[in-house]
Amino acid sequence: MKIAVIGAGAMGSLYGGYLSKVSDEVYLVDVWQQHVDSINAEGLSIQEKDKNIVVNPRAVSSAESVGYVDLAIVFVKSIITGSALEKNAALLGPDTIVLSLQNGYGNIEQIAEYVKIDNIIAGTTAHGATMLAPAHIKHAGIGETHIGWVQNKNDDRIDGIAEILQKAGFETVVSDNVMELIWSKLIINVGINALTAILKVQNGGLLKQQETRILMRMAILEAVNVAKSAGIDFNGEEMVNKVMDVAFATEENKSSMLQDILNNRKTEIDTINGAIVKEGQKYSVDTTVNLVLTNLVKALEKSV
Ligand code: NAD
Repeated sequence: MKIAVIGAGAMGSLYGGYLSKVSDEVYLVDVWQQHVDSINAEGLSIQEKDKNIVVNPRAVSSAESVGYVDLAIVFVKSIITGSALEKNAALLGPDTIVLSLQNGYGNIEQIAEYVKIDNIIAGTTAHGATMLAPAHIKHAGIGETHIGWVQNKNDDRIDGIAEILQKAGFETVVSDNVMELIWSKLIINVGINALTAILKVQNGGLLKQQETRILMRMAILEAVNVAKSAGIDFNGEEMVNKVMDVAFATEENKSSMLQDILNNRKTEIDTINGAIVKEGQKYSVDTTVNLVLTNLVKALEKSV
């Protein structure tokens, strides 16, 4: 299978790196030239808990030399999904399947501007990764990968994708309700990311004070109301408990939004809490708490 990863940062390098061990042609496509050059010169180094693994995918900064691929995995930040697809359109033929395991809401809509909706697979990943240096990542967390067709549920091409992910070491589950998974992950991010970034605390820090637990709960319940209007029905209190459980289980993690703020990078706020506000407006659902969180994070982005 000819595979390209669009956006070979922490997660793209993780998936592309391990896929290169089981598939002949894997290309990591990234605009970060130093990273691309280092991968081609020395291989990609993946730091696991107990060992360091070096793999050798091909890395490129331009999609033109690669041509159409069978599978394009999108791992840019969700705020630039559309522009990354546009810049890398040379990868996307009429039969190319595009897989998004990104966080945030709106990736599918952005991808659908460049490929047929019937060729889009979306999902979630519970793996975690961090960029340590060019061509050097840390595999920070392990978990399941869930994938599902956005629309054409009976297409068995997804089994081949699941099989190759599985072979590469990613425990993969095929789901026929991928939108529920995406919303569930979105709501977890809604409850944790912005507050950790604003307060500059690890995930577990949110659970220590009643004030932050109240704000988490309000943000989550607003998101649950929006999801309901969009046709995804979660039990509000169960979802609050689920997000609190995730914050507890990952208590020492710094959320990606906190890391982005600490590193003066643009965050995914627009596709997380900001997406709740935007979708809420569509359905006339009150999203005041998410509006406040969104604007606080945007103000923080501008203040650095
Ligand atoms: P990252 O910032 O490490 O990687 C993104 C990469 O995209 C960068 O290397 C950047 O140079 C590249 N890029 C930017 N514009 C590009 C373009 N036009 N063409 C090609 N490459 C381009 O981000 P990440 O942490 O790997 O996260 C990617 C996505 O996965 C996000 O949506 C994130 O929320 C999600 N996610 C991350 C983790 C994690 O542990 N890091 C876990 C689950 C989900």
